[in-house]
Amino acid sequence: MDRYGGSRARGLKIGLRERLAREKDTVIKDWGGRLPIALVYPNSYYIGMSNLGLHALYSLLNIYRDVVCERVFWERENQERKNPPLSLESRRPLSDFKAVAFTVSYEVDYFNVVSILKASGIPVFSSDRDESHPLVLAGGPCITANPMPLAQFIDVFGIGEAEKLLPGLLPTIIDNINEKRENLLKLLASVPGMYAPQLPQATPVMRQWTENLDNFPVSSVILTRDTELGELYLIEVERGCSRRCRFCLVSTAFRPMRFRSVGILLAQAEEGLRHRKRIGLVGPAVSDYPHLEKLLAGLRQMGAQFSMSSMRASNL
Ligand code: SF4
Repeated sequence: MDRYGGSRARGLKIGLRERLAREKDTVIKDWGGRLPIALVYPNSYYIGMSNLGLHALYSLLNIYRDVVCERVFWERENQERKNPPLSLESRRPLSDFKAVAFTVSYEVDYFNVVSILKASGIPVFSSDRDESHPLVLAGGPCITANPMPLAQFIDVFGIGEAEKLLPGLLPTIIDNINEKRENLLKLLASVPGMYAPQLPQATPVMRQWTENLDNFPVSSVILTRDTELGELYLIEVERGCSRRCRFCLVSTAFRPMRFRSVGILLAQAEEGLRHRKRIGLVGPAVSDYPHLEKLLAGLRQMGAQFSMSSMRASNL
């Protein structure tokens, strides 16, 4: 009998092992002396592994020598059976991690964030947690647009883009994770772009964004066919959108619109073609990419098939 009640949990672990075995380029790190961070996508593996933001975060976090980042997903069958979520890489429960970081791309997943904490035996309200519990963070497009629906449940929010937030955030967590929780939150709240909702906020939190996307190429990091876009090698072409439709998160969370250079994208595509025949060009309005003809000509020259995540009819 294990801590989660025997055969049911063992079955879940076998499932995770099989899933892991079907992946390429998973990062497996020893936990010794490192800060373990659970990167939680609050929905299924099938959906989450097609999310480039998750790939980027996994890569950015694991670049740090002092950090071991593992992924956690929330599967419908596990919810129904009340199985606790386990990390994919080492099959550990969330309570074993020092920090639990949610990346939230869709508003409906707010509910799953709370369910995941509950299923993991972690007190769901931030005010009920202390330094004996994992630090609970959240970021992503929905959080950047409006963190308040989760304000009671999250210790600290990252407002903006991870490339800009992590260099200030991670050293602060690594150096102070064993501090009294209140002290840690005060330190984190002083990092640009971080918002600790339990603390009084003296000045507005400034959204952090990356000026030059070419410094941070984003593409598929782990390859698996067990996901919606598993046959594609995904590449982020641009960020933000100049159209500013009032209903759209992109127009607020990723302003201003920024583009990667063609040379960088083609180099990524060349790498991608070693793994997949089809390149997925990802962006809020890929048809607005100013060098689209040059990019597509380059892809055709390489013999690549390609798909675009979005096109505006007016540009066709
Ligand atoms: S991504 Fe689409 S919906 Fe959003 S602002 Fe741009 S054009 Fe509008």
